[in-house]
Amino acid sequence: MNHYGDYLPLLKESLRKLDRWRDSFGEDYHDALADGEKLKEILNRVGERLEGNYPFHHPQYAGQMLKPPHPIAWLTYMLTATVNPNNHALDGGPPTSEMEKEVIRKLSDFVGYDDRSLGHLTSTGTIANLEALFIGREIHPGKHIAASSNAHYTHSRMSRLLNAPFLEIPVSATGEPDLGFIRKSAEKIGTLVVTMGTTGLGHVEPLGEMISIAREHGIRVHIDAAYGGFFKLISGDLPSSAEWDLMHEADSIVIDPHKHALQPYGSGSVLYKDASIVRYFKHDSPYTYFTSDELHLGEISIECSRAGASAAALWATLELLPLNRNGLGSLLAATRAASIRFHHHVEESNRFENVSEPALDINGYFKIPGQKKLSAVSELSRQIFDGGLKSRDKGYHLSLFTLPADSFTSQFPEFDANEDKVIILRSVFMKPEHKLFVDELAERIGI
Ligand SMILES: *Cc1c(COP(=O)(O)O)cnc(C)c1O
Repeated sequence: MNHYGDYLPLLKESLRKLDRWRDSFGEDYHDALADGEKLKEILNRVGERLEGNYPFHHPQYAGQMLKPPHPIAWLTYMLTATVNPNNHALDGGPPTSEMEKEVIRKLSDFVGYDDRSLGHLTSTGTIANLEALFIGREIHPGKHIAASSNAHYTHSRMSRLLNAPFLEIPVSATGEPDLGFIRKSAEKIGTLVVTMGTTGLGHVEPLGEMISIAREHGIRVHIDAAYGGFFKLISGDLPSSAEWDLMHEADSIVIDPHKHALQPYGSGSVLYKDASIVRYFKHDSPYTYFTSDELHLGEISIECSRAGASAAALWATLELLPLNRNGLGSLLAATRAASIRFHHHVEESNRFENVSEPALDINGYFKIPGQKKLSAVSELSRQIFDGGLKSRDKGYHLSLFTLPADSFTSQFPEFDANEDKVIILRSVFMKPEHKLFVDELAERIGI
């Protein structure tokens, strides 16, 4: 089955079954189905508007972190959305709240947390990080939240939101956070963010060394693995292999199922090593209607309403593709293989150059200009980027990535730093299909 429409009989069958459950409550008093012709006409127009998208489904798209969800995820999401449970409280959706607890248990086991841990799904990685940083600020009021300059741009914004001072940790030309700087600043740091899989080039920061500095100074450690988290499934294949085995030592971890676990958007997660953080969430709202003393996930979240459909979709996906090497891990192994193969193509080429070894499945590279100056590199990157958009079936989609001049020239000293920044090409090979397509992609780009 390659076409989305082919999956519809499955959905129809499940919907019919749910309809019988709906019918069992007696006559329906309103006809939600309105005018079928009108629905068809609107749906047609929606479909047409959706055709304005870039081809996220196709391996020619290797631009940003975007891809369609797995069919089991969107089928489950749609099925569940017809009921529309709300996981803010057990009563808002008892079955999907149970499913959420089950997937959180799986994610916690996966990162190595034991049953003293706690966690929940969130609507995004940003909200998940915000919540973890909020806990950090509550535990160390007045102290800095520190993250490297390669960290996701939202960390400094969220620190402002939390009214917590933010400290940017400088990085070396190869993206290593300056550990000496962290040591020197340790007294004022309350929470240290370690990014495992930076959004830019997928860099994995040295968790082990950062944790040992943090432990010496009583600093809380938060891992932002929104993008990279699921690479732990194939950590043995990665240059950063040892770091992934230490994840359980961090105080909190964020992983986005909507990044690398094939989920529709609205699927982030936050995990805490020690459930006692729950005390920072206590509230006494007259609006909630808790009917049991069991833990309500809404009680430990900064969000209220959350889609039960997201929990169900992730639950179903992990039934099909469990959190092991042969399950979801096989997809990450494929994206990693695509990235390595593409890196190799660039290495073999005398027209292009790699900026770094891919740490996960994101590549940074550039076309070598006739004149060895940064402005010429940037100009070529823009031309190649634009060139891909000119054809539908022979085209490609990349992204542009800006590096500080010195981080570029420290690797390529023969280049004249005639500008303070340089634009390179970036490709995110996050679809398993990329593995079969990188040769063709390299050819289309002219590598
Ligand atoms: C994507 C990403 C985020 C933000 O997550 P959203 O789900 O887009 O809000 C945060 N950190 C890293 C490292 C990311 O890659």
